[in-house]
Amino acid sequence: LNPLFAGLGTTIFEVMSGLAREHHAINLGQGFPDGNGSPEIVAKAQEALADKPNQYPPMLGLPELRQAVAAHGQHFFGVAADWQTQVIVTSGATEALAASLIGLIAPGDEVVMFEPMYDSYLPIVRQAGGVPKLVRLTPPHWAVPEAELRAAFGPKTKLILFNSPHNPVGKVFSAAELALIAELCRTHDALAVCDEVYEHLVFDGATHRSIMAEPGMAERSVRIGSAGKTFSLTGWKVGYITAAPALMPIIAKVHQFLTFTTPPNLQAAVAWGLAQEGDFFSTLGREMQRKRDLLAAGLTRLGFAVQPSAGTYFLTVDIRSIGYFGSDTDFCQRLTVEAGVAAIPVGAFYDGGLNTPYVRFCFCKDDSTLIGALDRLEPYL
Ligand code: PMP
Ligand code: GLN
Repeated sequence: LNPLFAGLGTTIFEVMSGLAREHHAINLGQGFPDGNGSPEIVAKAQEALADKPNQYPPMLGLPELRQAVAAHGQHFFGVAADWQTQVIVTSGATEALAASLIGLIAPGDEVVMFEPMYDSYLPIVRQAGGVPKLVRLTPPHWAVPEAELRAAFGPKTKLILFNSPHNPVGKVFSAAELALIAELCRTHDALAVCDEVYEHLVFDGATHRSIMAEPGMAERSVRIGSAGKTFSLTGWKVGYITAAPALMPIIAKVHQFLTFTTPPNLQAAVAWGLAQEGDFFSTLGREMQRKRDLLAAGLTRLGFAVQPSAGTYFLTVDIRSIGYFGSDTDFCQRLTVEAGVAAIPVGAFYDGGLNTPYVRFCFCKDDSTLIGALDRLEPYL
């Protein structure tokens, strides 16, 4: 057995969702929306199931989706990319990350990453033979510590892997932080792999910026998106990569032996979705912001110190504010079992787990679900 995976536990999302099912808890843990996703896009998929081929699509993705990904990135984020030489469709951002990291990392290469981080990153980096150089974002605002980041880069650095807007803490990397990352990549001739799945879910008038649009970064970046987040269709697993032309062929070689393709009907529907104009995408962000505010106000009323969330599906709270000084994991388990509300401990997003005072709640839910969770928490706290 592969000791790397044999030594791992089950992902925290599955653990907490399992506990939530067992105890009939309202699940504000794992990030998935209530409801059935964007109805127009589901209708397009139904049409495509009936009218279009249900056999293998081209390995790199349907041309219409690859074109839509390139046009969308240019229009919203100023990322200029040629769809034929720079875009690959994958089975979710999860596959996009795996294909990119396995393709780009050679054994012994150093990979700069921030903690906390999304939980699939470290196992894949290690499986690829990468040596993680971990830099902790500084709570409570989760700023990038410049000196530590500079120190993490060196002659063996192959790439930096990061996520903005950031799961779990809801941070959107600032222009200055992106400029610093770009400067370090240029200086050390390193690549940047940026997980931008929440690119449209940014709040309070903020705009997501892509590392790939920074000076000198178009030729050394990989940018990853997911229809799961953008269209509230997390079960579809349609992801996409925009990569520098020199990097795409190796990523494509990994993709061909990981999944080879992604369901064509879903690709066709996502192509339609990405091509939407007007305020389609800003409406998504505004609606999510309203939900953030609803949950944040409720949790604040209950005595939680709610940390700022500038983007994503998530906000975090400091559990010390309600007088809880035990571990974040214990807190989440007790909340699920005793109060009937599931959440995720932020410590699960550190290498090997860490005891933190922070807990993540998901707000991409119907208002009635959020209000129901607050109603359950009130008598418990
Ligand atoms: N990256 C981040 C930061 C995520 O939050 C998620 C999913 N929830 C993914 C990647 C995986 O996305 P997908 O479901 O498209 O594989
Ligand atoms: N990205 C989702 C979250 O952070 C979960 C995805 C998963 O369960 N793999 O909650």
